[in-house]
Amino acid sequence: MTRMDYDLTILGGGSGGLTAARIAASLGARVLLIDKERLGGECLYTGCVPSKSLIHVARMVHQATAAATRVGLTMSRVEIDMKQVADSIQGVIKRVEEAERIYTDDVTVKFGAVSFQSPTTLIVDAEKITSRATIIATGSHPAHPPIEGIAETGYLTNEDVFQLTQLPESLLIVGGGPVGVELGQALARLGVQVTLVQGPERILPREDSDVSEAIAGVLQSEGVKLVTKARVLKAEKSGSKKRVSVKQGEQIVTFETDEILLATGRQPNIDELNLDAVGIAYDTQGIKVDDYLRTSRANIFALGDVIGGYLFTHVAAYQAKIAVRNALLPVGRKKVDYRVLPWCTFTDPEAARVGLTYAEAQQRHRQVRVISFPWADIDRAQTEHATAGFIKLILAGKKEEIVGAHMVGAQAGEMLGEIALAMQHHLSVSDILDAIHPYPTLHTGLQQALFEAYLTGPQARSNRAIVGAALRLRR
Ligand SMILES: Cc1cc2nc3c(=O)[nH]c(=O)nc-3n(C[C@H](O)[C@H](O)[C@H](O)COP(=O)(O)OP(=O)(O)OC[C@H]3O[C@@H](n4cnc5c(N)ncnc54)[C@H](O)[C@@H]3O)c2cc1C
Repeated sequence: MTRMDYDLTILGGGSGGLTAARIAASLGARVLLIDKERLGGECLYTGCVPSKSLIHVARMVHQATAAATRVGLTMSRVEIDMKQVADSIQGVIKRVEEAERIYTDDVTVKFGAVSFQSPTTLIVDAEKITSRATIIATGSHPAHPPIEGIAETGYLTNEDVFQLTQLPESLLIVGGGPVGVELGQALARLGVQVTLVQGPERILPREDSDVSEAIAGVLQSEGVKLVTKARVLKAEKSGSKKRVSVKQGEQIVTFETDEILLATGRQPNIDELNLDAVGIAYDTQGIKVDDYLRTSRANIFALGDVIGGYLFTHVAAYQAKIAVRNALLPVGRKKVDYRVLPWCTFTDPEAARVGLTYAEAQQRHRQVRVISFPWADIDRAQTEHATAGFIKLILAGKKEEIVGAHMVGAQAGEMLGEIALAMQHHLSVSDILDAIHPYPTLHTGLQQALFEAYLTGPQARSNRAIVGAALRLRR
């Protein structure tokens, strides 16, 4: 058998590629990681890390004003030095970047333009490299919808918004998914007049409708103008401003704005890889893979944003484990399983979700019930003056397992780990209740919600019958 230069080559050193490289190297494989420019990917430079840093600053501003108002103080506008904010965001990126260096221990790293010559041969700049298996993890870039005139007026995306050293007075955001909604709230809290234009009927259309409605209410109460069921048709210059024409129903509405931000989804990074030469199938959503993350070439795998579907850092990292295993071990291959898939939209309050909606659960399970619990009934929410939101749990089956959770609340995303673990291991309501939770944490909210579920559920009915019989015997 011809000796290959590497056991595994990974294209793209972002969230998925770095995790894959670290796992494969830890298993003793000869690993090559190739990135076209730098390690870290979207999440580090233009996605999760800068967006959560900006959201943090915006929350500080909002909390300072809210706290002052609560005790009867009137604060004049908080002055924001955007140059310092941008510098502090870059500082966070730098520190995370340093912590990620460990991911390339025992991994050969190359930078440059890479393309396939054959299923086992890659060209990096002018160098020819052979590899037994390859994982494509080249991520995605912002989609650009066909809006007439937008190239001429100019616009922002997540690739440049975090470097702004001066904020526009007004901003029209196109797209009401997680990116548009998170940035819309954060920038409004920093003093920008935000208008958010959205195609579907509600913002965050992938969420439970109660969640979308609650977040829409919060945004509107903070001054974000929501324009739903609307399509941006045209952008043009209007003096120092930009005029945007939007079709809403049969009407054309125009908005004058200082800046436009596109948050209209993602497109896979596949153009430069020469996929056609090796017969790897793809479409506009990304590279086609099977349940083993195999592309149409048996020794080439793909994961993360480049395959479409669930575009999250933690999903790319999860897929990395599966892809590396299947690439290095030809027997007992492992399939992906998205039954327990948590995600969070980092608005304030956060919108957190894992598993099925009520309607989805009804299609798959016979006994389904919903438990709703107000966030305000969590003592810690009261002490923190952060009472907006709710916990909605979808329970199913005789054992009453959680099959879905939909939450709106301050730091609601932090609860997802516990719920995901419970779901992964098919724990029942009583199993979670039996674990002692420290008081007063927000996690006690989950226990309170589950206690309500227990009291109104079959287990309590059966316990009441047993205790009732025991008491009657003693009377
Ligand atoms: C504003 C924003 C906020 C987000 N917030 C969150 C969040 O809070 N939580 C969350 O889970 N997800 C979040 N995401 C999504 C998350 O960033 C992505 O899902 C994640 O980065 C995908 O990882 P990946 O490995 O597939 O791609 P990436 O991390 O983007 O890595 C791809 C790598 O491939 C390289 N590359 C590209 N083309 C080539 C090529 N031709 N050859 C070689 N290398 C190439 C790139 O340079 C890059 O380093 C956010 C995204 C955005 C835009």
